[in-house]
Amino acid sequence: MALPRTVAIDGPAGAGKSSICRVVARDLGYLFVDTGAFYRAVTLAVIRAGLLDADDAAIIRLTSQLNLDIVPQHDQYAVLLNGEDVTQAIQQSGVDANVSRISAISGVRAVLNEKYRQLAARGPVIMAGRDIGTVVLPQADLKIYLDASPEARAERRYRQRIAGGQQANYDEILSSLRSRDASDSQREVDPLRRPSDATYVHTDDLDIESAIRQVKQIILNWQPAH
Ligand code: C5P
Repeated sequence: MALPRTVAIDGPAGAGKSSICRVVARDLGYLFVDTGAFYRAVTLAVIRAGLLDADDAAIIRLTSQLNLDIVPQHDQYAVLLNGEDVTQAIQQSGVDANVSRISAISGVRAVLNEKYRQLAARGPVIMAGRDIGTVVLPQADLKIYLDASPEARAERRYRQRIAGGQQANYDEILSSLRSRDASDSQREVDPLRRPSDATYVHTDDLDIESAIRQVKQIILNWQPAH
């Protein structure tokens, strides 16, 4: 049975893309690339370099100098920024608050898109983000759009953070998600859009196991185009 070589998964913040795809990728033998993680890692690097108020050119220059990678680790994956494991650090609220501005810079997107296409060339890949099916891998064999209401997404992020031992405030998370939704879908460059050829999955009423099962089934049912 043939499986799609490239699977593009798009959807808004907190729709469950990484929790679902991590497991699906592990079980079906795919490399999982969470493109949001690299936008976050760049944002962390910008914060650390004190460049949040710098002009776009300086931020693009920094981005092109960064060594970013994503590697499988146990059941999870680790995000490496210049060799340092920043998987936890990129989930901080300071990164949340600034990532949409950084990801709206077209030069930053150009540098990262190049990296994503190189990663996709490494082997069978599930790549998740906002513009994977529309911009990064428009020729992907299979496209899925994962959606959920803002409230359900905020609730999940809240529970994830509490389970991870971090502090969390539901209202703050909801308002940060709503403002990221607005900037991610209204920005000029590569906004979040549902690809017309994507299979739509709404996860509000699905627990994580059912969502994983549904996404797996879509991948397993894929038929190559003739
Ligand atoms: O998926 P996650 O919430 O970690 O993504 C963080 C941010 O990275 C998003 O809010 C968005 O601004 C940006 N992003 C993007 N394009 C992608 C993936 C993420 O602009 N393909």
